[in-house]
Amino acid sequence: MRAHPVPPQATAPFTAVFEALRLRVLQRDWLSSNNIVFLDPDADAGPGAGGAAVVDTGYATHAPQTVALLEDLLGRVPVTRILNTHLHSDHCGGNRALQTRWPGVQTAVPARAFSKAQAWDEEQLTYRLTGQTCEPFRVDTTLVPGSSVSLGGHVWHVLGTGGHDPDAVVLFEPEHRVLISGDALWRAKVAVIFPELDGEDGFEPALASLDLIESLAPAVVIPGHGEPFAEVDDALRISRQRLRKLQAQPAAHVRHALRVLMVFHLMEHRRRPPQDLCEWMAASPMAQRTAVRRLTKTEPPALAQETLQSLLDDGVLVRQGETVGLA
Ligand SMILES: [Zn+2]
Repeated sequence: MRAHPVPPQATAPFTAVFEALRLRVLQRDWLSSNNIVFLDPDADAGPGAGGAAVVDTGYATHAPQTVALLEDLLGRVPVTRILNTHLHSDHCGGNRALQTRWPGVQTAVPARAFSKAQAWDEEQLTYRLTGQTCEPFRVDTTLVPGSSVSLGGHVWHVLGTGGHDPDAVVLFEPEHRVLISGDALWRAKVAVIFPELDGEDGFEPALASLDLIESLAPAVVIPGHGEPFAEVDDALRISRQRLRKLQAQPAAHVRHALRVLMVFHLMEHRRRPPQDLCEWMAASPMAQRTAVRRLTKTEPPALAQETLQSLLDDGVLVRQGETVGLA
């Protein structure tokens, strides 16, 4: 009998393959990324014999919940490794809490992000741009595109994917053809292409990342947000269509990014008076960005009003008394 039985998870269609890979997906909401948990093959053999690896750790305000979910799943098995697909605050916001709970944990981040994290450069790490919180954490080692890592006793390839975040990596296990895609591929939406907000090329690298993913022919994708899925061709088609449309209308992409920013802000802050929300957005580095102002030809206060109104019109946000919040 195993000393630390793993409770069943709600990933029914992929139970067998996930079991074979010794992985579990803790599916979170959109404020926090999913957490993918691997048990080392000897994790059950007793104290100090092995541990668990966690790919992506969610958003900072959910960190206590992330730790509690991992404690529930792992029992006495410690988390010994953290790996981040990229350092957006919804993917590494739990790193600090995990490092505090399991002090021996080794943290691996994409090679291109290592020095930014080591210097804790919030501008480079985009936390200033998005107005999001991330507790500083220690980085120990790098995930180098072209290399591989052992997770749950299987070899996973590390591949670089630009676009959404130029530093990001995805992880691919070639035997079972399972891909951990971070924010490079979701089932039916595309993530904001952040470099474009600074006037840099992001759409072409995002499309190239999709080509790379297609070349791997994954059977199952575990995205950073949403359920694991097998409809990979469909997801690639939807993502390409959406990216090409946004590429043709970069101002629409900026407006989409501002909507996402406002929605994330309200996921964290729940409800806010509309005026406060608009003042926050108008002053936000994203609305103030030169490329954003150039593309939208709109000044930040008007852009904030417009963003709020479009989310109210679409029913994403609703008024409740003196405040607005998510529907
Ligand atoms: Zn991201």
